[in-house]
Amino acid sequence: MSYETILKSGDKMYTEKIIHDVSEMKEFAFQVSEFLFNGFVLCLEGDLGAGKTTFTKYLGKGMGFEDNINSPTFTIMKIYEGPINLYHMDVYRLNGIGADYDLEEYIYGDGVCVIEWYKNIIHSLPKDKLVIEIEIIGETKRLLKIEGTGVYEQIIQKISN
Ligand code: ADP
Ligand code: MG
Repeated sequence: MSYETILKSGDKMYTEKIIHDVSEMKEFAFQVSEFLFNGFVLCLEGDLGAGKTTFTKYLGKGMGFEDNINSPTFTIMKIYEGPINLYHMDVYRLNGIGADYDLEEYIYGDGVCVIEWYKNIIHSLPKDKLVIEIEIIGETKRLLKIEGTGVYEQIIQKISN
């Protein structure tokens, strides 16, 4: 793994990182899992097949979940209950949060909330969050663009060390 830049502007901290294969994605997700807390909001963006679900699968493993975490595209959300709950959302099919979904209850609740395609519900998300954009730059090579706001700023610092 390699780190390219660390930038700070206002209450935002940003870094970029190249990962070369799935095992490095796993390593990265395990690293992030050490900094989770109740109420953590982690947003994921990136094309289909970029690795959003793969990242979340390993994040869950890092949190101690034995369950095989897979894509919640058709259910919008899957809940994994543990010492810290994991709410895994994929809002690809949503355009804003409609009345049919109680997602905000989870986004602003206890537990760790991971949201694939978070931009679709951006208006329902808190200002402070960790955002990871995964860009495909090779068959297994990915560029991660990571931004932390507010309390999430310090995580950028920690994962860059
Ligand atoms: P998304 O949820 O973004 O649509 P998935 O995680 O479902 O993407 O799929 C990513 C696919 O790309 C998986 O088949 C995974 O094995 C593969 N892959 C190859 N290299 C990587 C990498 N460095 N990180 C994550 N996934 C990778
Ligand atoms: Mg996915």
